[in-house]
Amino acid sequence: MSALIQQDLAADLRDAAALPISREMACRLLRTNDELMPELLAVAQAARARFKPGVITFSRKVFLPLTNLCRDYCGYCTFRRDPGQPGAHTMTPDEVMETVRAGERMGCTEALFSLGDKPELIFPEAREALSRLGYKSTLQYLEAMCDKVLRESRLLPHPNPGLMSAEWLHRLARVAPSIGLMLETASERLLGKNRAHDNAPDKEPAKRLRVIEDAGKEKIPFTTGILIGIGETLEERVDALIAIRDLHARYGHIQEVIVQNFRAKAGTLMAAWPEPNGNEMLRTLAVARLLMPNMNIQAPPNLSDPHYADLLDGGINDWGGVSPLTPDFINPEKPWPHLDELQRQTEARGFELRQRLPVYPEFIPFAAAQSELLRQRLAQAPLHGENVLNPVSI
Ligand code: SF4
Repeated sequence: MSALIQQDLAADLRDAAALPISREMACRLLRTNDELMPELLAVAQAARARFKPGVITFSRKVFLPLTNLCRDYCGYCTFRRDPGQPGAHTMTPDEVMETVRAGERMGCTEALFSLGDKPELIFPEAREALSRLGYKSTLQYLEAMCDKVLRESRLLPHPNPGLMSAEWLHRLARVAPSIGLMLETASERLLGKNRAHDNAPDKEPAKRLRVIEDAGKEKIPFTTGILIGIGETLEERVDALIAIRDLHARYGHIQEVIVQNFRAKAGTLMAAWPEPNGNEMLRTLAVARLLMPNMNIQAPPNLSDPHYADLLDGGINDWGGVSPLTPDFINPEKPWPHLDELQRQTEARGFELRQRLPVYPEFIPFAAAQSELLRQRLAQAPLHGENVLNPVSI
């Protein structure tokens, strides 16, 4: 594409009526050269300004790795363990509540449950650990812990348990105002030998899209997103974003789309795999914004530290969950920025930083309709915005 054509394209895209862009244009824009990036970013920023002007949100959370046992072996993961491996651990209810209480004291409003996918299906030790706790499955234990957190604390659970049936979505949605499952990719190729999702049966894109669709049918506020740089082509990356966009267009339930950049970790299959650079991340964010001009788009700041403020240039409107207390157990080598620093960096770019609940304000009615307990808890919760960086009171 010549420079002249790209500039014409950028001029066209400044017109809101040109959005959302087509698949073809998204693929072309992902190949924008670095010199013309300012044009692309300006268009994405204008789209964000029409959607949610002047405010960047985040959720103050505690991270609860309920279990790091997992039946999958993703090529980039250092979180998962087999039973008996050093660091293998399933949290007890007391450990969960101890962290939740500490988070409460620090003004957190989200209890993020992130965990391995159905370890009991292949590990007898996982079945025995669950049985000792009084449960038959990881999902059953997760449901009980979400219920406990919801009843006994001011935090709101946000579970990320991997694949689940429509029935389990329904059950979890009664004890959590929002649920998450990263699509990661729409590429079936990545299930192939020595690729990112070789030996990761729960990462089959069709199965993950089915879960997101089932959540849509139940009107469950849902978080999903993509993981970029794990071997997908640019076309496959666009296809993943479009698949998410289309499900939201049909059901209206996707509260946010995460664009996460792959980071290589020592000791994994993909330890030497090249990481996407800052400009590739920015291009992807801008294209995501132009594909989904009226959806919440999030990028995690800790995975782009120390230059995370640059991500705002790509048109995001949310930093996701940030914890003042617990590490990012999925990326323990990448600490979250201190909230004062996040506020300083966000304000330096001209935005107000505002705390939100794990469920976005505009999706609260969907969540409140799932159960009387949730309705009550959400009625007591601060919606957003009040003195965001001071502990909230409910
Ligand atoms: S990324 Fe998730 S599903 Fe994959 S191995 Fe790690 S814990 Fe399991």
